[in-house]
Amino acid sequence: MSKNRPWKSLSAYVLGSERLFAAGFGAMVAVTAGQLAGPLILKSIIDTSIPRGDLGGMALRAGAYLFLIIAMGILQWLAGITIGRLGLEVVRRIKRHLFGHFLSLPVSYFDGHPVGELMSRTESDTERVKEFFSRTAIALATDILLFIGILVVCFFLDAKITLWIAVAAPVILAFVLFFFDRLRVYYERQRGLWASIVANITEFLQGVEVLKAFDRIGWATGRLAANSRAKRDNDSTSSMLEFGIMGALGFSMGPLFMAAVVAALAPGILVGTFTMGTLLVFLEYGRRLFEPIMAIAENIRSIQQARASLARIDAILALPPEALGAGRPARFGSEIEFRNVWFAYKNEEWVLEDLSFTIPLGSTIALVGPSGSGKSTTVGLLTRFYRPQRGGIFVDGIPLEEIDLPSWRRTIGLVLQESWLFPGSILENVRLYDESISRDRVRSALGRVQALDFVERQAGGLEAPIAEGGRNLSGGEKQLLSFARAVAFEPSVVVLDEATASVDVRTERRIREGMAAMLEGKTALIVAHRLSSVIDADSILFFRGGRIIARGSHEELLAKAPDYAELVRLQFPDLAREAIP
Ligand code: ADP
Repeated sequence: MSKNRPWKSLSAYVLGSERLFAAGFGAMVAVTAGQLAGPLILKSIIDTSIPRGDLGGMALRAGAYLFLIIAMGILQWLAGITIGRLGLEVVRRIKRHLFGHFLSLPVSYFDGHPVGELMSRTESDTERVKEFFSRTAIALATDILLFIGILVVCFFLDAKITLWIAVAAPVILAFVLFFFDRLRVYYERQRGLWASIVANITEFLQGVEVLKAFDRIGWATGRLAANSRAKRDNDSTSSMLEFGIMGALGFSMGPLFMAAVVAALAPGILVGTFTMGTLLVFLEYGRRLFEPIMAIAENIRSIQQARASLARIDAILALPPEALGAGRPARFGSEIEFRNVWFAYKNEEWVLEDLSFTIPLGSTIALVGPSGSGKSTTVGLLTRFYRPQRGGIFVDGIPLEEIDLPSWRRTIGLVLQESWLFPGSILENVRLYDESISRDRVRSALGRVQALDFVERQAGGLEAPIAEGGRNLSGGEKQLLSFARAVAFEPSVVVLDEATASVDVRTERRIREGMAAMLEGKTALIVAHRLSSVIDADSILFFRGGRIIARGSHEELLAKAPDYAELVRLQFPDLAREAIP
């Protein structure tokens, strides 16, 4: 990535707020001009008005000085709020862009990037950019302008002294930068410790039940305390260094410079080549001259951080979004075919090897096999969350990659093992905020999967709120809601990864009935964890190690594949349950 690319992309976000930018920048330039003009007014009072005894001129100049101070205050305030607003606007654009882009990425991206990391990308990185805008950029621009302005004005007053300053300033800046560079390790360690403290807090709070149940709260607090102590020690050392040395430097540099100016100008004043006013201007400027140097050095860190954040944001935005297919609308009328499909999540570690099978219209295919044999992966290929490296998937003979992806996914009703619920009402969860799905359709979908009576028992019925992650519902109820969701979207194909968690006998029966209603008249691919799903299936694919090692009906497989019989006995909890009267 080129060195300037992050800044370039930042300028793209400023577009659209040019007026805000111009207003802020203009106000900043005016403030700097005012800061330069102040000492010059004082100089003309001392050098012109006082020697002439011109009281009127003196009052006029004093008035101008006062006006300048007030105007500068107002302008500074104006610059602060405009640049601050610009920062908020820019960060809003970046966040919107970033979040939209995240959602457009293929599912495989999220396998390798935990939620915490993505949160930190959208939150802390964008906040850093905002910080850069609302604080660093304005301070830095003002400081640089002021520094240049001071040099220019001083040059006209006395070129020789100005040349000294021009030589000394870069040396001092280099020294200060060198020093800040030493501090960097502390800042990096601080960031690392901060990240692990945040990660600890998140993990411990999410797993609070486990920590309490196993009496590990003491360990958790101890771990957090140790990290906090390490951070405190690191930060106190870095502040000692920062404030100790930088403070000493800042404290001594101004007075040293002033002494040098007085020593250099005093002989000239005695013989009349310099005026007292010029001395005053130099002293006033000198007081300010080192502030910009120190501030530039300090702000370099924020600039580096903002640049790193921008580069990370850019890297995400540069990731190609999921390809949406060649635009043929999905139409499914005869069969779905997996033809010699090979798939690996990474490199050539094949998870599926040479998989071939068909799902004829209206039939139910069950996938059965030991855990890790590739059943869920097969589902992920059909929903196109992943793409096979070899072979292909065909819908009515048309390769899936030629079909418009959103329309293909609309054809599918997906029910995952974990029924994901969003905060909101039951109604909105079933129709996933799609208002083209009417209340009546939602109601009839709930009725179809036999969930209506449970929904109506909730206070508020369809409008009953669902807590985060569906915490206020039982596992079985959550499953019924996700069946209703699949029904409400009226898919042609139902893809179901059955939940493995066992439920009580009554709930089990309701789920089974709900499922049967959901699958009625549909084409279905099921990762089966219920004996009933296997028995009712038109065909069973028996998976092992990423291959289909046997296929046929339940009876056929029992007869011809001894491993299958063994697996059925071990894997289907309802088998044992049915044995109990
Ligand atoms: P099953 O559904 O039969 O239990 P899966 O299809 O979930 O099996 O997994 C097949 C293999 O692929 C397993 O070895 C599993 O560890 C691996 N696997 C599953 N998901 C991923 C993933 N997102 N990234 C990498 N490997 C994965």
